[in-house]
Amino acid sequence: MTPKQELIVVGAGLAGSEAAWQAAQRGLRVQLYEMRPTISTGAHQTGDLAELVCSNSLGSMLPDRASGVLQNELRRLDSMLLECAEAAALPAGSALAVDRAVFARLVTARIESHPNIEIRRQEVTRIPPGPAIIASGPLTSTSLSNAIAALTGEEHLHFYDAIAPIVSLESVHMGIAFRASRFGRGEQEQGDYINCPFTQAEYETFVAELVSAERIQLRDFEREIEMGVKARAHHFFEGCLPIEIMARRGNQALAFGPMRPVGLTDPRSGKRPYAVVQLRQDNLAGSLYNLVGFQTNLTFPEQKRVFRMIPGLKEAEFVRYGQMHRNTFVAAPKVLLPTLQFRRRADLFFAGQITGVEGYLGNVATGLLAGWNAARRLQGQAPLTLPVTTMLGALCHYITHADLADFQPMKANFGILPPLATRSRMGRRERARAYAERARLDLDHFLEEL
Ligand SMILES: Cc1cc2nc3c(=O)[nH]c(=O)nc-3n(C[C@H](O)[C@H](O)[C@H](O)COP(=O)(O)OP(=O)(O)OC[C@H]3O[C@@H](n4cnc5c(N)ncnc54)[C@H](O)[C@@H]3O)c2cc1C
Repeated sequence: MTPKQELIVVGAGLAGSEAAWQAAQRGLRVQLYEMRPTISTGAHQTGDLAELVCSNSLGSMLPDRASGVLQNELRRLDSMLLECAEAAALPAGSALAVDRAVFARLVTARIESHPNIEIRRQEVTRIPPGPAIIASGPLTSTSLSNAIAALTGEEHLHFYDAIAPIVSLESVHMGIAFRASRFGRGEQEQGDYINCPFTQAEYETFVAELVSAERIQLRDFEREIEMGVKARAHHFFEGCLPIEIMARRGNQALAFGPMRPVGLTDPRSGKRPYAVVQLRQDNLAGSLYNLVGFQTNLTFPEQKRVFRMIPGLKEAEFVRYGQMHRNTFVAAPKVLLPTLQFRRRADLFFAGQITGVEGYLGNVATGLLAGWNAARRLQGQAPLTLPVTTMLGALCHYITHADLADFQPMKANFGILPPLATRSRMGRRERARAYAERARLDLDHFLEEL
């Protein structure tokens, strides 16, 4: 009998638990390392595997929502964590919300009883020299973070997220907002930015609401965010200050900072606006735009309320809210392949939030692919790149092809999928259904061809 191939998985969170399961199901002998409960992350509260640190929702189950598409793909690919989530589901309308404790206990029991998995409750402080998956999450321990930084190069490991909100282009009112680059010096003829112009009265009302809006309580380890963020190893810079903190420095702080209107003329008035919020393209398809300089720590409902006061964003659809929290993630466009392999070491995989994929479901999904691909590689088969028209394939493609200079984590959304082939005009929902159907057919076809 040939001895089983061995794989180390670091971190038994969402990605690591799914990765270990997938590899073990394919016959690998897996050592799954988890530092909790001996060493805490500061956010987890138990020693259970796959503990959800915050919300208990895994997103909408509707088949024409991005999270619904990803859930269907996970189901099709036999995700163990999705099965546990469905078993731990609570009534929550169309959302897949779970009882956190039941969910984590179910996952823990499944992993503990798998004959091919051995759980080791121990911190990993070095990159394993043999076949391994790093799934240590956004709160990776310091020693391992240092080891990853040494592997990738310090400039390719990020420690904090200073994320600005992202809105969908189709929800921006282009009768109010206008395209232009400052002083007409852009790359695109029509202007690189979408500009939301303010009158003085609109600006003053907006700033007053911004400084008094409710903020998320910062955890101890995140307090330095208030001072300016350590966005990359050894670099603190003020550009990452939350917008509401900057606004507190004085009524004109934003008008002379991220909202300065210089070099811009509002085509409706023919004049320079009093202030502007600029929106910058966020994905290749040009369907998503981020609010430049608007990294924030406001609660999500407050972001929706206050940022919808920006002229042109009254009906804005927020694809992602701004966030500021500790988040360890590698510069995936530089160091990873869409198979989730480390570019310079084919037997080393990354999975979960540390790849730059955001959100519970996306983290489970990258764990699934990493576990599957690690098994394939150890069993002499080529690791797989999923079709970019599937949600999981698009996520892996996005993180490995995004612009490195502005790389920020991304969750499942339709904006990262390639445009549909059809030229016919469709409403938002109809288009979402078409994306979902294409993703389903392409994944089926891909699996049949294997
Ligand atoms: C505070 C916070 C709140 C969040 N809230 C949400 C939310 O509401 N909804 C959402 O969709 N996403 C949320 N996220 C983002 C993300 O989806 C979750 O963090 C998710 O759990 C990440 O999955 P993961 O498997 O990559 O990491 P985790 O689930 O964190 O798993 C990583 C595991 O690795 C272990 N570990 C770390 N270092 C080592 C080491 N050196 N050796 C051994 N083990 C180690 C950790 O203890 C942990 O168990 C949040 C993130 C944070 C930080």
